[in-house]
Amino acid sequence: MPWMKGYPYYLLLSGTISLYMGIFACRFRRLPGRRYAWVLLILIAFGLVSTAAEIMASSFNIKLLMRDLQQLPLLFIPLFAYAAVRDYVSPLPSRFPGKLALLSIPLVLDIALIFTDPYHHLMRSSVGLVNTGGIIGIMMQPTLLSMALIAYDQVLSLYAAFLLAASLKAVPGHKLKPNVLLLLGMLISVISGIAIPALKITFTGFTVLTLLPSVAVVFFTIYRYPQLSPVPSVSDHLLGSAVEGMVLTDRNGVILSINETGEKLLTRMFGPAPFRWLGLSILPFLQQYSSILGCYENQCGGRIELEPAEEENLYCSISLIPLEGSPEEGAMLMMISDYSDKKRYERELEYQASIDDLTGLYNRRHFLNTFNSREYREGEGMAMLLMDIDDFKQVNDAYGHLAGDQALVSFSCKIRNFCKNGAIAGRLGGEEFMLCLFARDEAEALDKAEAIRRAVVGHTLMLEDGRSIHLTVSIGMIYTEDPDMPFEQLYREADEALYLSKTNGKNKVTVGGHSSVS
Ligand code: GH3
Ligand code: MG
Ligand code: MG
Repeated sequence: MPWMKGYPYYLLLSGTISLYMGIFACRFRRLPGRRYAWVLLILIAFGLVSTAAEIMASSFNIKLLMRDLQQLPLLFIPLFAYAAVRDYVSPLPSRFPGKLALLSIPLVLDIALIFTDPYHHLMRSSVGLVNTGGIIGIMMQPTLLSMALIAYDQVLSLYAAFLLAASLKAVPGHKLKPNVLLLLGMLISVISGIAIPALKITFTGFTVLTLLPSVAVVFFTIYRYPQLSPVPSVSDHLLGSAVEGMVLTDRNGVILSINETGEKLLTRMFGPAPFRWLGLSILPFLQQYSSILGCYENQCGGRIELEPAEEENLYCSISLIPLEGSPEEGAMLMMISDYSDKKRYERELEYQASIDDLTGLYNRRHFLNTFNSREYREGEGMAMLLMDIDDFKQVNDAYGHLAGDQALVSFSCKIRNFCKNGAIAGRLGGEEFMLCLFARDEAEALDKAEAIRRAVVGHTLMLEDGRSIHLTVSIGMIYTEDPDMPFEQLYREADEALYLSKTNGKNKVTVGGHSSVS
């Protein structure tokens, strides 16, 4: 077969490529999960080159020497495959190098026997040459001891493959494909390492050639993607310990890593994820926020405040931080801060500062603010009603202050019933209230004021001790169709009208200003 002539050169080339990959990978030797694989790549390179040398050598002794040299990488490859996988799938304990040294004792013994016994009678029962299609290599019959040591190696590589396979169940969806590929590449070597001796395949260099798929996948998966690891990396731990929702995405918004808070917040904002957030693109959920999409397009940072949905009381902001120089090109860190508690607190403070404790009506300040920001209503005038409960001091004196408070609450409820159609009610202080309502004309406003007065008169507040309180109210009313009339003027005129109600026998409505109703 003519291509067989090139066979040792293919081996040499493969060895050179493996050596390059091993040297490249050596740069990552301090990175957890990448501490041993580079040794594996270099051992394989060494195995390939010495196999090529065995085939290319013309003298039997040099061929035998090359075969002996080959044993060093071949025996240690399973041990380092185990170390590399063990390091890759979970954090290594500090005593791991010691364990590795212990596991290497049988292999060192094997090598020592090969190199110290010139006749190899402990390891090999016979040594000769084999010619397969013009490829001439060493052919040897292993002894029982040698077979036991080979079996030891096979167990190590099987165990490594098992560890890698077992780690797959914890691998997040988006990292599954490269990890399965890694396992498949490794299985080819493991299976051939068992099958080749069992099938008595004597083709020189075949075993070491079957290691090439492993070399390729190890290099292209774990060194091409330094972040790839089935176990949570340091960055995952960092994300996990953050108080904020942390979502790490690639340039297309695909979630590469997310902490628990991040998952919770995304679920609260956008509903449950179809399967899980990890591996999903976040961008379709943020379609309405063009600034975020712009950040992804331009690879720049940004911040948006999310409006909470009607029923949700969730206030949060999303900050985007581009991770320049990260191995994952265009990676973005999305930080989601939930400030709902702060917002609730602010609202509580705002509420407390605007609402009268006792009655729940607006206090003087907030009434005034609301009054000033009221909307002008086309075709309607505005009436200002200043109300003062009659003889309230006597209520307090007769029933006590607590009953007086109850009376104020019940009076406020009556007023609130009239707070329709944009009307604003407030407690100005003590037993003095103000209502700003809208009406088509002064007569309609007066009707409403009278209705309030009658509602108060007609109401009886029953106390717990069986006694009852009847209140009356005096009202001073101003009606105006001028939307720019200042509050101070309205107040003064309403106060004058109220004074008239009081002096004219109380329980009355008096229209002040330039009244058209008599
Ligand atoms: P008039 O008919 O002239 O308005 O007489 P009045 O007694 O209602 O008026 P006056 O201003 O003399 O008394 C108001 C009373 O309202 C005095 C005060 O103790 C009482 N008052 C003010 N604020 C409160 C309150 O928050 N709770 C209670 N229970 N009483 C209050
Ligand atoms: Mg008063
Ligand atoms: Mg009063």
